[in-house]
Amino acid sequence: MERSSDLTGTIGTLTRVEESNGITKPRILIIYTGGTIGMTENPVTGRLEPYNFANLIENVPKLRRLDFNIDYYQFDVPVDSSAINPNHWVTMAHIIEDTYDQYDGYVVLHGTDTMAYTASMMSFMLENLRKPVVITGSQLPIGEVRTDGEENLITSLQIAAERTPEGEPMIQEVCILFENYLWRGNRSTKYSADNFNAFKSNNFPRLAKIGLGISFRRDVLWRPREDKPLTVHYGIDPHVIYLSLFPGLNESIMRYMLEAPDLRGVVLKTFGAGNAPTDDWFISTLKEAVDRGLVIVNVTQCHNGMVDPYRYETGEGLSRAGVIPGKDLTSEAAITKLMFLFGQGYDREEVKRLMEIPLVGEMHA
Ligand code: ASP
Repeated sequence: MERSSDLTGTIGTLTRVEESNGITKPRILIIYTGGTIGMTENPVTGRLEPYNFANLIENVPKLRRLDFNIDYYQFDVPVDSSAINPNHWVTMAHIIEDTYDQYDGYVVLHGTDTMAYTASMMSFMLENLRKPVVITGSQLPIGEVRTDGEENLITSLQIAAERTPEGEPMIQEVCILFENYLWRGNRSTKYSADNFNAFKSNNFPRLAKIGLGISFRRDVLWRPREDKPLTVHYGIDPHVIYLSLFPGLNESIMRYMLEAPDLRGVVLKTFGAGNAPTDDWFISTLKEAVDRGLVIVNVTQCHNGMVDPYRYETGEGLSRAGVIPGKDLTSEAAITKLMFLFGQGYDREEVKRLMEIPLVGEMHA
């Protein structure tokens, strides 16, 4: 996918620190895409308006005390994350690729609504990532007195700068920091519209707990399998949909959806451990779609647990129809992974094979 010329941005410097005795200070780039965190209340109109990051230091003077070199890249037109699309993902990945040698880590400020989608997609796009990409946002704008944005921003910067005792970046993956927890990005889900702890990872442990200090679970942190240079993949194919089951799903509507021209992949959201009706029409509609070339992946509507096609007879019907078990993939990771794999130009068999194995820790092996 080409970088969109509409999505321009402005780069600037927030803090510069003295280097002493040859000790290099962390260099972090904040990428501001939009969302509540970057808003401030206009004192005249009372409305929330996007913040100019060039002035961030005035609102968050504590940033100076971090002793980091911090630059920012601000989208010229910040987006509410409900309007995020693949062009934004391509832009974010380009910024990271273009500046990868200049920074030790990245903090992406993003609206919460689709943060888990962006985190999942970025984890697939940035192959062999060896630096932290910490995505955060807030429930209250950074300009408000009770904001959670200031703390989320500062903690994210600290995490992005953290190194192991061996001297390598502590985090080498795309993750989400929100309030008290750091989560693997492609395992996360937004679960609350108003709680400060708005994200969860239902099938994977937290990467860190934020309390008086930041305690990392080093045993669960992702490490790239091979020591290869960062490779950024820009192909994204959005010819995919969710089909969420419910009692009473109508046959002709379901057929109509699956026969949509150019549709290539479907994330089928099933019940419980991956169960679905056993009616002949239902199974044959799916089988015909698979025979026409669609890749259909089974994920559960439950928040926790995984698809086990062999636990009930109802799940077995799906396997017979050629539906692939998505194990414990989140819906967000399943749909972005499908878009990503089709975007790489893989044929259907390869997409099916890769949907069943973890690429970057997004699912159970
Ligand atoms: N609608 C906002 C967004 O996702 C909500 C938020 O930032 O928390 O951009």
